[in-house]
Amino acid sequence: MTELLEPTSPSAETELRRSFRGPVVGPTDPDFDRVRAVWNGMHDRRPSTILRCTSPTDVGAALRYARATGQPVTVRGGGHNVAGTALADGAVLIDLSLMREVTVDPERRIAHAQGGSLLADVDAATTPHGLACPAGVVSHTGLGGLALGGGYGWLARKWGLTCDHILAAEVVLADGSVVVADEDHHPDLLWGLRGGGGNLGIVTRFTLRLRPVGPVHLHTGVFPLDRGLEALARYREFAEAQGPDLHAVGALKHAGTQDWIPAELRGEPALFLTAAWFGDPARGPEHTDPLFASAAASDVRLLEYAELQALGDHGEPHGNRYYTKSCYLSELTGDAAGQLLASAAAMVSPYSSVDFEYLRGAIADVPDEESAFPRRDAPYIVTVSSQWTDPDRDAANADWSRLGVRRLAPWQHGGAYVNYLQDEAPGKVAEVYGAARYERLAELKRRFDPRNVLSGNQNILPTSPAHR
Ligand code: FAD
Repeated sequence: MTELLEPTSPSAETELRRSFRGPVVGPTDPDFDRVRAVWNGMHDRRPSTILRCTSPTDVGAALRYARATGQPVTVRGGGHNVAGTALADGAVLIDLSLMREVTVDPERRIAHAQGGSLLADVDAATTPHGLACPAGVVSHTGLGGLALGGGYGWLARKWGLTCDHILAAEVVLADGSVVVADEDHHPDLLWGLRGGGGNLGIVTRFTLRLRPVGPVHLHTGVFPLDRGLEALARYREFAEAQGPDLHAVGALKHAGTQDWIPAELRGEPALFLTAAWFGDPARGPEHTDPLFASAAASDVRLLEYAELQALGDHGEPHGNRYYTKSCYLSELTGDAAGQLLASAAAMVSPYSSVDFEYLRGAIADVPDEESAFPRRDAPYIVTVSSQWTDPDRDAANADWSRLGVRRLAPWQHGGAYVNYLQDEAPGKVAEVYGAARYERLAELKRRFDPRNVLSGNQNILPTSPAHR
C-alpha cells in the first residue's frame, strides 16, 4: 500500500484513511501495474489511485474522496470492457474486483452476487443447484459491466438477457449514498440498470433470477471457406426456425489443431458453426445434426453448463491487444454472408474472428419499454474482433475490424450493442439507445448523477437535449 499521490486535499486523504477499509494501491506500489491491468492490453492507462473496495461503505468513501479531491473516477468490475472504460489516466479507480461473493437461494431460485463478481463466480455458485443466470460466453468476463449493458449468451434465446434477470440491485449513488432498486423501490432506477450501463450508480450487489439448467448437447462443425456460402445459407434457415431450446452461433476464424479438425483445414481460416441444445440431451442429435450435413468434420459433446460457459475462456486471454467492431443485421442474405467470408479471407491476425448469431427468442419477447436495453428486435449480431500482440500491428488490425462492419452497411439493422462499443464517433451512444430511450436515461442521470461523476463508461449526459 502507498501514500496517496498528490492529494489536493489533506483532509480528504485523512477522511479516506478513516473510512476506507480495503487496500489502496498507488503508482509507487510494486503491484500497481498488476492491479491496474485490464483485459484489453491496448489500454495502458495510469489511474492516480486504485481504491480496492470491500463493501458499499468503501465504495461510498471512494466516491466522496474523488469528489473532495476533484478527481474523475472510473469503475472496474471484471475489467473486460473492450473500450477499457474501467481505466483512465489520472482518475481514481474504484475497483470492485475484491467483491466477488455469490450466494444462492435454491428454493427461491435467486442469487446475490457482489458487483465485482466474474461470470465464473456466479456459475460456480449456481450450477451445483442445477441453476444458472443467463450470461456471456467467456467466464472471466465481469458480471457488472455485462449485466448493466445487457448480456447476450447461450441462454439468451431461451430465457432472455442477463439484465432481464436483475431482480434488484444495491447501488451506491454518485453522492455516496446507498439505495436498493427493485420493483417496489426506485423502479425507475431498476429500469435504467437493465441496459443503461454504469451510468446511474455503482452496483455493489445484484439479486439475480436463476433458471434451471442441465447437461448441454453441443455440436460444432467446420466448413472450408469455399463452402461457406452454402453453409451460411443453411445456418440462416436452421437458426431462424429454431425453438427456444436450441441456440446456434457461428465464427469465422483460423482452425486449430484439435483431433477432429481435418489436417488440410488446420491453421487456415474456416467457418465454424455450433448448435447448443438445452432440452433433453437424448434428443440433442435429432435437433442439431441437420446443421452439419455438409460439414467437413464435426464434434459432439455432452457438457455440464459450467463447462460450456468456460469453453471460450482460453481463446481470449488477458493482456493481448483487442479491437472490436460490432453491428446488428436485419438479415443474413447471401450477399451479406459473402461479406462475412470476405472479411475472413482478409484477416490480418490468426487470432481474430468474425462472430455472429441469430438472436430474437426470449430477448425479443420482453416488451421494448420494460428496460433501458434497446434493439431487442435485432435478428442478428455480428462482431468483428481483432486479437494480436504486436503494437506495430494496431492500425492494420483495427482497420480490418472497421472494414468488416462497414462491408455490412446495406444489411445493418441500426444501433449497436453498447458493451461492444470501442473507439466510436461522438453521438454513437445516443444512436445506440435511440432518442426517446436516451432522453429517459438522461432524465435518470439528472436525478441520480447530475454532475456526471460516473462518466467513465458509454456515457449518458445529464444535460437536457437543448444543451447537448
Ligand atoms: P469492466 O471493464 O470492469 O467495466 C466496464 C464498465 O462497466 C465500467 O466502466 C463501469 O462503467 C461498468 N461497471 C462494471 N461493473 C460495475 C458495477 N458493479 N456497477 C456499476 N458499473 C459497473 N458481452 C455479452 O453480452 N455477451 C458475451 O458473451 C460477451 N463475451 C465477452 C467476452 C470477452 C472475452 C470480453 C472481453 C467481453 C465480452 N462481452 C460479452 C462484453 C462485456 O459484456 C463487456 O466487455 C462488459 O463491459 C464487461 O464487463 P466487466 O465488468 O468485465 O467490465
